[in-house]
Amino acid sequence: MQRLITHSCGHDQSHGINGHFAADSDRQASRLSRQKCRSCYDAANAVRAAEDSAAIADLALVPLTGSEKQVAWAETLRTKRIAAVRKRSPKTVECLASIADAKWWIDNRRVPDATIIASALPPAPIA
Ligand SMILES: [Zn+2]
Repeated sequence: MQRLITHSCGHDQSHGINGHFAADSDRQASRLSRQKCRSCYDAANAVRAAEDSAAIADLALVPLTGSEKQVAWAETLRTKRIAAVRKRSPKTVECLASIADAKWWIDNRRVPDATIIASALPPAPIA
């Protein structure tokens, strides 16, 4: 059933809402109303992507290897990841900038930044 939802950004958007029980539909409608509408969500993402690109524009990154589709996806993931990691661990950036395998960026997209940073640095000397 199509329902007009007023989003947190103030815009109205029509959504297909399906639920077995009325409470399910109401819960779904309520959840959607707490989110931004599609256009505002996309606009915020575009701004974030532009900020990430600017934050790493000075870095020399190796060209990615893989299928055309993998490379395009991995470019986005790499930009976002390096921009985020750079703030916390500038040393890790050098290591990440040399990873050319698009598949690696895709396979590790859900790995937390802290884990990536920990695995890129040599282990701390044992005191
Ligand atoms: Zn909006």
